[in-house]
Amino acid sequence: MNATHDLVSGNLSVISEQQIATSVVPINNIVEWLLQDTGTIFSFNVFELAEATSNRPLSVLGFYMLKGSGLVSQLALNEERLARLLMKIEAGYLDNPYHSCIHAAGVLQSTHLLAQNAICHDYAHPGVTNDFLIKSKHQLATVYNDTSPVENMHVSSMFRVLYGKENLHFAEHLNVDSRNLLRASSIDLILGTDMKKHFSMLSRFQTQGRGRLVDLPGDAKLLVAQMALKVADIAHLSAPTQVHKRWTAQLTEEFFQQGDRERALNMSILMDRSNSAGMVKSQDWSLKSWARCPCASAEAAGPICNCSIKLMQSG
Ligand SMILES: [Zn+2]
Repeated sequence: MNATHDLVSGNLSVISEQQIATSVVPINNIVEWLLQDTGTIFSFNVFELAEATSNRPLSVLGFYMLKGSGLVSQLALNEERLARLLMKIEAGYLDNPYHSCIHAAGVLQSTHLLAQNAICHDYAHPGVTNDFLIKSKHQLATVYNDTSPVENMHVSSMFRVLYGKENLHFAEHLNVDSRNLLRASSIDLILGTDMKKHFSMLSRFQTQGRGRLVDLPGDAKLLVAQMALKVADIAHLSAPTQVHKRWTAQLTEEFFQQGDRERALNMSILMDRSNSAGMVKSQDWSLKSWARCPCASAEAAGPICNCSIKLMQSG
């Protein structure tokens, strides 16, 4: 029997296979070793964690980090509900090449303090872009009036899970102001990951996001948190080369799958697997410009940005 990590107690212990199947995520020695490495952004390999946890990297890492941050004990969060919520959210991630629970776990590892939103930021991602949903008149585009349909769906689905019948609201006991703050900041943070808002947020960030975080007004603090989550969303740029290459291949495959659907629907094909040269070139430009811009002015966003700065400096 393997050593396991009990999501509810947070303790390493030896437990039965039946318990593993119901309420806990199994952790063997490899997983334990990998989790201890989460603070070392340059060497952490989220694919290894996914493999070692039987594709449950998000719930394992999420619980480990929330517990380790002291947040669970400080706010007296309901651990049992939190554990079940994490597993429910993880199960809601589709098996996309890129926008999967493994991607969310990678982003989570890059955003310690923004944990809840990193965990949920791509929840139930359909594996296609907002443009595709709008042009194909997808139901999500209709529901959200063509406005960030994917990101709106992530937030809305997350709160539906939280407020649902399964009793998963781990912070229900907080006072109404704290709960309102939790909700408002989650909405702003996750909606902020829509790349369409990237350059307007960036220009605000360059003027308002400078200086020490503690000295900034509330709006600017939120902006810094939004930028930190956005940078973490592309933090595989600063991962070890083999991890970064694998993420690039996964993202390319997801784009190609969208191209396949566009071809089948007779739509214009932006990402064509039969013409990969142009695709790779535009992706290279996008990733470099997305990553370079925020990092150039992101002192307040801290170590996440430093990682990308190092990567950009190393070419
Ligand atoms: Zn993402």
